Amino acid sequence: MIIVFLGPPGSGKGTQADILHDNHGFFHFDTGSRLRAEIASGSELGQRIASFTNAGKLVPIEIIKEMILKFLREADAERIMFDGFPRNLAQAEVLDEGLKEYGDDLDYAVYLEIDEDNLLARIVNRRFCSKCGEIYNLISKPPKQAGICDNDGAELTQRKDDTEEVFGTRLKVYLEETKPVLDYYRQAGKLHTIDGDYDIEDVSRAVAELLGV
Ligand SMILES: [Zn+2]
Repeated sequence: MIIVFLGPPGSGKGTQADILHDNHGFFHFDTGSRLRAEIASGSELGQRIASFTNAGKLVPIEIIKEMILKFLREADAERIMFDGFPRNLAQAEVLDEGLKEYGDDLDYAVYLEIDEDNLLARIVNRRFCSKCGEIYNLISKPPKQAGICDNDGAELTQRKDDTEEVFGTRLKVYLEETKPVLDYYRQAGKLHTIDGDYDIEDVSRAVAELLGV
């Protein structure tokens, strides 16, 4: 089974992807870490990738496709998940080409949808412990004592990106870029939207039910 797993920043997609990996054995393709791993391996492909990233250039889509094919062949896994990929229509098309060359086909495009206002509220109320990294939410998971970590008494901080202004812009860019991708999968009859406005357990149950795993 091959799936793509999409969702806006802050939607909890990362957590759900981890659950699919840990509990359901999905092999995980995430572009950023694949690019880094390929470069670190010193392979011929990695050297070509580095020639772009070192120059601060975007890695061309043909190289992304090569990387996808290499991943599929090396993984040779029953369950594969593309996490946060494709980001745009060109990548969605290249993924289809890669899968075709590999001799397989996409089964599901799963989109974790969250109400935009909920998402913003979730983000601006997020706080981190500067010491142990524990994540709090002033509304859904507040610390016992305001501004102080329950674990170690260290001060809680807010990430610079977690303001309505910065995050709102990031979200807007994501939604604009992703809309054509969602339309592409909808037309192919492969788009499945999961309501992400619930607890982690409820959402992961809905995802597993959809995929029949
Ligand atoms: Zn702490």
